[in-house]
Order: sequence, then C-alpha cells, then structure tokens
Amino acid sequence: MVRRSIRHAGRDVSRLRDQRDTGFTVTELMVVVLVIGILVLIAVASYVPATQRAAAVACAHNRATLERALDAHAAGTTGTLPATTTIDVLRPYVSNPDESTRCPSDGSPYTLDVAARTVSCPNHP
Ligand SMILES: [Zn+2]
Repeated sequence: MVRRSIRHAGRDVSRLRDQRDTGFTVTELMVVVLVIGILVLIAVASYVPATQRAAAVACAHNRATLERALDAHAAGTTGTLPATTTIDVLRPYVSNPDESTRCPSDGSPYTLDVAARTVSCPNHP
C-alpha cells in the first residue's frame, strides 16, 4: 500500500485521516450486537431453571429442618406429637420460622403429617 502525504495548510494531515478511517463498519457492529444478543439469550435461558432448582433445594432443606423440629417437639413434650396439621406448632423449634415454614417458590405454607412424621409442600411433592 502506497501512502501518500496529505497536506493541508502546509501541514501533513495524513495521520488525522488514518485515525478517522479506523472506525467500525455497520456490518461489524451488527455482528457484535448479534453475538451479545446470543450470549444474553443463553444466560437468561440458564438462569430461570437455576433459580427453580435452588428453590427446590431450599424447600427440601426447610422440610428436613421442620421434620427435625417435629422430633425436637416430641422430645420436649415427653414423646407426644402435635395434634394438628399446621406447621405453626413447630415455629419455636426453628431458628428462622418466617422463612423456614414456607416454600421459597411461592410462599405457600407446608403441611404437617404427624402420623408419617413428614412435612409436605404443595409445590415440591
Ligand atoms: Zn416447596
């Protein structure tokens, strides 16, 4: 490539012209926007199932905590189990009852099955 010196008012302005020519073309910008769009699509598509899995794991952890709280209730009352299906009777036995007694997916309350000594969730059977 042959470079010619461009002079304006007696000064060499070739360098100024080279700086102006180094911008992106419309095609290059469209490719960059397309790649960014694909990356955002992949990130969103993997984020939603990850939050659902995290809620299911937190729900299983809450239920296990409440089942241990049921054992603690029985130990504290000389082996008698509560005669109710509401989970509120176990609130004194968990450290964070406002969050531990509800499903993290939608906040629905758990159901206590005293005979089976289990805590069930309407969202995660
Ligand atoms: Zn749940």
